[in-house]
Amino acid sequence: MRKFKTESKKLLDLMINSIYTNKEIFLRELISNASDAVDKLNFKSLTDDSMHVDQGDLAIRVSFDRDARTITVSDNGIGMTAEELEKNLGTIAHSGSQEFKAENAEHQGDAVDIIGQFGVGFYSAFMVAKRVRVVSRAYGQDEAHAWESDGLEGYTIEPGERAEHGTDVILTLRDNEPAKPTQPGEPAEPGENYDRFLSEWTLKDLIKRYSNYVRYPIQMMVTKTREKPKPEDAGDDYQPEYEEYQELETINSMTPIWKKRSDDVSQEDYNEFYKSTFHDFEDPARTISFHAEGTLEYDALLFIPGRAPFDLYSKDYEKGLALYSSNVMIMEKCADLLPDYYNFVRGVVDSEDVSLNISRETLQHDRQLHAIARRIEKKITSELEAMRDDDRAAYETFFENFGRGLKFGIYNSYGAKAAELGDLLLFWSAKEQKLVTLAEYAAAMPEGQKAIYYAAGDDRERLAKMPVVTGVLARGYDVLLCTQDVDEFTFQAMREYVARDMPKVYEDEAAREAAAKAVADGAEPELEDRHLELKNVATGDLDLATEDEKKQAEEATKEHGDLFAAMKEALGDRVEKVTVSSRLVGEDEAPACITTEGPLSLEMEKVLKRGPE
Ligand code: ADP
Ligand code: MG
Repeated sequence: MRKFKTESKKLLDLMINSIYTNKEIFLRELISNASDAVDKLNFKSLTDDSMHVDQGDLAIRVSFDRDARTITVSDNGIGMTAEELEKNLGTIAHSGSQEFKAENAEHQGDAVDIIGQFGVGFYSAFMVAKRVRVVSRAYGQDEAHAWESDGLEGYTIEPGERAEHGTDVILTLRDNEPAKPTQPGEPAEPGENYDRFLSEWTLKDLIKRYSNYVRYPIQMMVTKTREKPKPEDAGDDYQPEYEEYQELETINSMTPIWKKRSDDVSQEDYNEFYKSTFHDFEDPARTISFHAEGTLEYDALLFIPGRAPFDLYSKDYEKGLALYSSNVMIMEKCADLLPDYYNFVRGVVDSEDVSLNISRETLQHDRQLHAIARRIEKKITSELEAMRDDDRAAYETFFENFGRGLKFGIYNSYGAKAAELGDLLLFWSAKEQKLVTLAEYAAAMPEGQKAIYYAAGDDRERLAKMPVVTGVLARGYDVLLCTQDVDEFTFQAMREYVARDMPKVYEDEAAREAAAKAVADGAEPELEDRHLELKNVATGDLDLATEDEKKQAEEATKEHGDLFAAMKEALGDRVEKVTVSSRLVGEDEAPACITTEGPLSLEMEKVLKRGPE
């Protein structure tokens, strides 16, 4: 027996038990290797006229034998000589595929799509197999060889039998492990059931899940049922009979839709892909497809769902995009690709630059992944902006579904995300009686207005009638009526809104006149970014009163000093002070109103008292 090269035993053990968290990916690894082998043969035949390879025959086959407890992955690819078996499978972390890629680097293009690069994937077979036998015949050679190992100490290589070029990898599954004994009272640890892989359904499911977009057909003999032909002499009471039969079926769909240019794919196809992949019955609201080129290449296909999944705001909801590398799925939900406030986005990212063997732990530190995530975030933001501007009705529906998450994004970042997300928010305008953006609010402000006013509470109708609201409206200023628990917290985190390209406000009369004259002479009006404070109409001093009003209020407070002192005494600790206010303006204003001082409005106090939902 030959010993594994490298610090074999330890390394192999580490490999098998820690690189992969999930045993079922062994199939993905073996299929990836088979696909690479077929790809190499295909590539060689494209560059060597003396080779005659029928592209239509190239395929991968998966089969199983329940009695022998074996799973076999076969390919009619390039195969391996005895030396190659030794070199590629006898040395852990030696990748023949990486070598092949390097050797053929200059001819590479779309023709090759080789997945392997680390030389460890093959050994994942030992996670489920107690013995692995590889029978291989290299293209152009007459004899075949068989490599065999129990994955512990070493391996053997002997002459073998194979009719054609290619490779069979035959796994003999490990024995099922019974449930582990546990302390009395604790739930039993489930044992390992390797027999579950000996099922047509499971294997098909794994192929579809991980290898659906491998570019060669992955075939399996599957059992089907059909109606037996009706006998000639069948009478009136004939009942159809059924029989089972076997048929070779291609399991994977091969062409990944995200690799196609969006011009070549119909929206219906995207919708179908979305619905079947992400288990939604409604079409997505928006589809975003892009292909990044340059130092970091990847394809991304993202969807903004048409409705919120029922568990979106529950603790169990898992955000994330499916991560593929060279058409093979690495992770179903890669959370690091999406910020929390875009947790509703579904989709796929495929990058050859992301390594296959990456685990959840190492992903977090992957700089390339961070770069992709940043780009994705920008894409989503600009898509939402486009939706807001081109299709307001759809955007309002979107906002109803997911707006709360965007507001939380600002709140949770202590306002740091306000620049990214602030313009995506919609609020109810008391004046316009419809949803508006902060930019729209700012653009409609009358001259002299210096802040954005809002009121927060449970009920829009009630808010609209509050004297503190009607008072501000009476001055001609709009008030945003906010009824979501997070609204006031969001505004507090933002502190201000920067309105872009607003008409410039001039400090003194002379400058204003000079500017007006310039515009009359044909100059463009001057614009500026204006910092607008976000003010709750129910707290603090709104600073809206004119000098006259202020004086009147002061005088009235003095004049009725005795009355206010009596009121304060009657109300005691429940109020801070009682004064005349210039907040209450307008025709049918209320005689009195309650306001607070300091940052907390009464409504926000209520939310805080209620605690998190
Ligand atoms: P990687 O795929 O990352 O290179 P693996 O451990 O999966 O690493 O495989 C090691 C090497 O074994 C491959 O690079 C390839 O050279 C060889 N190999 C594995 N499976 C096959 C196969 N079915 N046909 C031909 N060569 C194979
Ligand atoms: Mg591999």
